Formats: sequence, C-alpha cells, structure tokens
Amino acid sequence: MVIQTETDMDWNARLQALESASRDLEPAANERKTISDQACAYAEAFLESLPACKTYVQDQGSSEGLDGRIAETPTRLKDLLAELGSSVDGPGINPASGGHLGYIPGGGLYPSAVGGFLAGISNRYSGVHFASPGAVRMEKALVRWMAELVGLPETAGGDLTSGGSTANLSAIVTARDACKLHCADIPQSCVYMTRQVHHCVHKALRIAGLGECQLRFVPMDRRFRMDDSVLEDMIQADQDRGLRPWMVVASAGTTDTGAVDPLLKIAAICAAKGLWLHVDAAYGGFFLLCEEGRRALAGLDKADSIVMDPHKGLFLPYGTGAVLVRDERLLAQAHHYQADYMQDARLGDSGFSPADLSAELSRPFRGLGLWLPLKLFGLAPYRAALAEKIWLARYFHERLSGMAGFVTGPFPDLSVLTFAYRPKQGDVEEANRLLLQAVLRDGRVFISSTRVHGQFTLRAAILHFRTHRAEVDHLLEVLGRAARSLSA
Ligand SMILES: *Cc1c(COP(=O)(O)O)cnc(C)c1O
Repeated sequence: MVIQTETDMDWNARLQALESASRDLEPAANERKTISDQACAYAEAFLESLPACKTYVQDQGSSEGLDGRIAETPTRLKDLLAELGSSVDGPGINPASGGHLGYIPGGGLYPSAVGGFLAGISNRYSGVHFASPGAVRMEKALVRWMAELVGLPETAGGDLTSGGSTANLSAIVTARDACKLHCADIPQSCVYMTRQVHHCVHKALRIAGLGECQLRFVPMDRRFRMDDSVLEDMIQADQDRGLRPWMVVASAGTTDTGAVDPLLKIAAICAAKGLWLHVDAAYGGFFLLCEEGRRALAGLDKADSIVMDPHKGLFLPYGTGAVLVRDERLLAQAHHYQADYMQDARLGDSGFSPADLSAELSRPFRGLGLWLPLKLFGLAPYRAALAEKIWLARYFHERLSGMAGFVTGPFPDLSVLTFAYRPKQGDVEEANRLLLQAVLRDGRVFISSTRVHGQFTLRAAILHFRTHRAEVDHLLEVLGRAARSLSA
C-alpha cells in the first residue's frame, strides 16, 4: 500500500472544499427562520383547515414526488411542503381530525409537537443519566407521576417506550425473567387472557420466546369482560395437572369493545395463586384522570406490570407509550447490560437510567413532548376531555338505541362502542358493510368495523381531544340517513 503524503497546501485545499460543501447542512439564522416560518405556515393552514376537512379520503394512487429518488441538489421547501400536503396529508385517515372514531384514535397536542421539535433541536440523549441528567430526571419524574396516578408503591419504575406494543413486550420479558421461566419450562407454562386481548400481546409472547406457552382463553361475560369465577378454576385445573400457570394478562379497555376486565377480582386470584398480573391499559389507562374512569379501572394498582399509552389517552402524537412495573428492579434485571465502552456512564446514585430499563439504547427524548403539554395546560383540561369522551360514548349509546333498526352492543365501560344495523330483510352483513361505506364516503367522520361472535359489527372509539358532540351527532346523522336509504 502506498501512503500518500500530502503537503500542508493539499490538506488546506481538500479540507476547505469539503467543509464548504458540508456546511450546507447548517443553514444560517435567516435561512432557519425561512424554514421554520414556512413550516409553521404549513402547520397553521393544516390546523385551521381541520374543522372543514374530511377524516377519511380515498387514496388516488402513487405520487411522483415520493418515488424515492434523492437528487444531489436541493429542492425548494415550498415544493416539498406542497408534496407533503397532497401526497401525505391528503389520502387515508386524518389522525389529527376530531372525526377520527376508528380503531383507537391518537392525538397530536400542539405543545407536544413543539416539545418534539425542541427535543430534536437539542437532541438531548435521555438514555443515560451521565449524558443528560436533566432529560433523565424529567423522564423519571414523568414515570413517577404515572406510577402515582395508578397508585403503585415507591418501588415502582417504568419506561417511556415507542408505543403500547413495545411496552407490552417490555412487560412480558420482565414477567418472564421475574418468574424465572427457563426454556424447558415453557411448554408447561400457562398464560391466561380473553380472546379480546390485543394482538400485540401474542406478538410479544412470541418475540419473547414464549410462543410455546399454553394459552388459556378465559370465557367472558356478556360485556366481554373476563369471567373471574372461571379463571380461578382454570388455574386450579392446570396446577392439578402439573402445569405451571404463571401469568394473567388482563385488559383495561380492550381495543375491540372497550371492556375492562374485573381487575380487583383477577388481582386477588393472582395473589392467591402466585401469578404475575400484567394489565394492558394502553387504551384505557389514562381514564384514571377522571372520576368516571377511576371507578371503571378499580384494581389497576394491584398489577405487577401495566402498559398505558400517552399517545392515546394523553392525546400525544404517535411515538410515546409507557410500561410501569411494580418493582423497578425486575424491569432492570430483564434489560440492564454493561459494556466497556459505556464505563463512564455506569450507575451512580441516580439509580437506573432509561437505557437500563429498556431494549433501546439511543432513543428520542420522548419526555419533553409529554412534559410540555402537561405542564403548560395543567391536568384540569385532560380530566375534562377524558370525562367528556366517556359521556359522549354514553350519549351515542343512548341515542343510537333509539334509532330504528339499530342494535347497540354493551353499555360502554369507557369510550369504545359496538353496534350494528338489523335490516328488515336481506343480508345483515351486507347491510352493515353498506352502512360503513356510506360513513366513509361522507368522510367527515371515520369509523371501523370488527367481528363480534363472528358477526360483522361496527364500532366507534371516542378518544380524540378534538372529538366533541358535533362529531358524534354527525355520525348519528350519517348512520340514520344511510339506514333510511337502505330500508327504502
Ligand atoms: C393500541 C393498543 C395497543 C398497541 O399499542 P401501540 O401503541 O399501537 O403499539 C395495545 N393494547 C391495547 C389495548 C391497545 O388499545
């Protein structure tokens, strides 16, 4: 190999040329202002247009600007924002719209978006105390706040995750290690849940190497809640057979029907039988902030691990879930690692850092987008918004019950409802599909469908902070109109 020696002049010329080209990555103050002004103008136009916007827009096919070719030369921001507006912020479901009543709606609080912006600007690394003691303190304080909201003891800890699916994975891995499940035990180990458990729990079990556990589906009552009287017998029967019951996964607000399993009774059974109780409260957990929700969620404080999604019940933009574990050390045992290149960042008196409690090392500073709106608004409007969702669900249930041809599912535990249309004649599923199509064609509100006991069923999930009575009334109106035209 020939090592080329460069003269000082060569060094100067080469490095200067590269520096001058790479400096394009750092816009000057006036250029930054132009960028942020244009981006803010886009955001303002977007937000102002929401009340008149459709929540669902049919896709019109691919767009040229999103072909994946990245040029060597710059493109004007104006053109890029135009492309964003037409190609991305047009077709599909608009998650920022209060008309989003499908699946589980997310949120998009403005100060949270600003928090995300500021977190991106400073790029504070919230994984390790040594690197950003302030960011880590903020995230730990938020986890502490959530643990207190639930009523968990001082020993509790947790982590801000990317969402509910990763939070469930984190909890299940923690439960597996806390219960000392070894590979050879897995085929004899039993997990109890209802058929309404979110599919990400199955995914998490499989990723955690627990796919060969025996899954026991506990029957449900007429409101899709776990039948605790059967649960105890099922666990006993498995123990009698020499199997190893080790975990119950309860849901505090199922995605499909919004049902809350009887947590107090399930917790008592888990305590008596020595099982880990994991509660998936990704959708329902933050209803703890209002009195109506608190009553529905009684017993959540008895769980060994809990998942709740700030990007659902705290109305944040997507990207923030949370796992809470009654004993923080168990979460750490399942995730904590050391490495030589991390030797400067070892545990101090500050306790565990987020990276000790998570599968992630590098991570976005999620705490800022959670902290900013909570502090800026205070809790009162959150409490009101969550109570409003519960009352809107009850209102919808009552109004729809009075509409000809409609049958409603159970009275809502929280804010998800199921319902269907029963035509006087003809195919029931076909009629409900047509009804759903009519709602989507109107587009002002968006709902989705599911299957309940094998039957095609419509559902509405009321959780968006922008959903108020007008959106619910609009849904009732479109449903009524569509039903009348079907029966005509
Ligand atoms: C939404 C949801 C999940 C999944 O959470 P993501 O944040 O979408 O990953 C899990 N469980 C329940 C009950 C949910 O509603």
